[in-house]
Amino acid sequence: MHIRTRFAPSPTGFIHLGNLRSALYPWAFARHNKGDFILRIEDTDLERSSQEAVDVIIEGMAWLGMDIDEGPIYQMQRIDRYREVIKQMLDAGLAYPCYMSEDELNLLRDQQMAKKEKPRYNGLWRPEPGKTLPPIPKGVQPVIRFKNPIGGSVIWNDAVKGQIEISNNELDDLIIARPDGTPTYNFCVVVDDLDMKITHVIRGDDHVNNTPRQINIMKALGGTPPIYAHLPTVLNDAGEKMSKRNGAMSVRDYQRAGYLPEAILNYLARLGWSHGDAEVFTKEQFVSWFDLESLGRSPAQHNPEKLLWLNHQYIQNTDVAKLAEATKPFAHELGINTEHGPDFVQVVGLLKDRANTLIEIAEGSKLFYLPAPQLTADQISENIPEAVVPAIRDLIEAIKSSEPNKESYSAAFKQVLAKHQLKMPALAMPVRYGLFATTQTPAIDSVLVVLGKDEVINRLSRLV
Ligand code: GLU
Repeated sequence: MHIRTRFAPSPTGFIHLGNLRSALYPWAFARHNKGDFILRIEDTDLERSSQEAVDVIIEGMAWLGMDIDEGPIYQMQRIDRYREVIKQMLDAGLAYPCYMSEDELNLLRDQQMAKKEKPRYNGLWRPEPGKTLPPIPKGVQPVIRFKNPIGGSVIWNDAVKGQIEISNNELDDLIIARPDGTPTYNFCVVVDDLDMKITHVIRGDDHVNNTPRQINIMKALGGTPPIYAHLPTVLNDAGEKMSKRNGAMSVRDYQRAGYLPEAILNYLARLGWSHGDAEVFTKEQFVSWFDLESLGRSPAQHNPEKLLWLNHQYIQNTDVAKLAEATKPFAHELGINTEHGPDFVQVVGLLKDRANTLIEIAEGSKLFYLPAPQLTADQISENIPEAVVPAIRDLIEAIKSSEPNKESYSAAFKQVLAKHQLKMPALAMPVRYGLFATTQTPAIDSVLVVLGKDEVINRLSRLV
């Protein structure tokens, strides 16, 4: 079987990480099986759909490296196709016009509720052999309803939830077209899944209730239902449904906060799927390991600390030149001109070990691109003890004759410390302060390398 999966988001507003996880699993399943992955935009809800949300989805997927084989296919561009299928179904007696008005439907519902029955359409306009339908009211545009099978049940073997059986008595005749002829949501999904030859529908379990209806329509159309895998939802760190209102961040927010796409992808992969106890793995490993059997059965919970930890892991393990490229936009945002001053790759190499995000690296790099601090006499007397000045003078000389590398600078320090009977902090702290007007810097020997010999000598010379 040639595997074909799809991600079918409704571009209605806010796209959080949980939404993108729904893209990741069908993507990984297609890639694992050398199949096709299709992006379908379910934009028939014109009022709530927006191009902005479509852009966020497409950019987010591209950023995370989820490549698409077909699409984006917009449902709004397939309306003629849906109308065609509705017509075929009417012609074949699989669907029928229903002229029940809104008021009649409400009345029916009230009566059923009063009798403690589940509200459902009563099949008044459903044609049956030997049945006489009511006279067609004038000037009423009908809805089109699907003739759901009567009796029996719909059974499917959900790849996550196991066997599910829903009695057809639970399902009334679904409206597949509105009075103005526009097709409805569940119907479009079925036509698309059939036309697009989708073999596996991997989607959020908020759609479980739609599945029996979709299977019935699909079978009526002569199609073979795909395999369904309904994913448990992703909850936020407080155990609530993820939403913008309770603080969920969009993919773009994570990008702007200095997360690496590889870290997000790894994180999302584990949000409802596992492979032994593997926590940090490459995209390639994920794809080669991915299977539907290892999908979790209970809701996954978003854990921001774990995501930050993963981002830290990825920052450590990413090639430093690549990391520097990824950090540059953040540095530029902070007004740092990375083209002037120390080599940015070296700066990043120095800062990455302690950083959890690219923003932290960019923030840390500021130190190396600011002009030499202008120290006041008070600052100097407070931070550069008089007694250390001779040692600084010797250090300048030692640096002058050192090779510009960490080992030589370290040796220069050692030699000066020994001569002046000082401990490292007694010299390193005033030197840091003299260079940057702060004592918070990475290891001093590395800092000297990155700042550059001439600049170091210039800055220190002002102190002696
Ligand atoms: N458009 C639906 C959603 O965004 C998904 C439908 C489906 O995957 O079948 O929730």
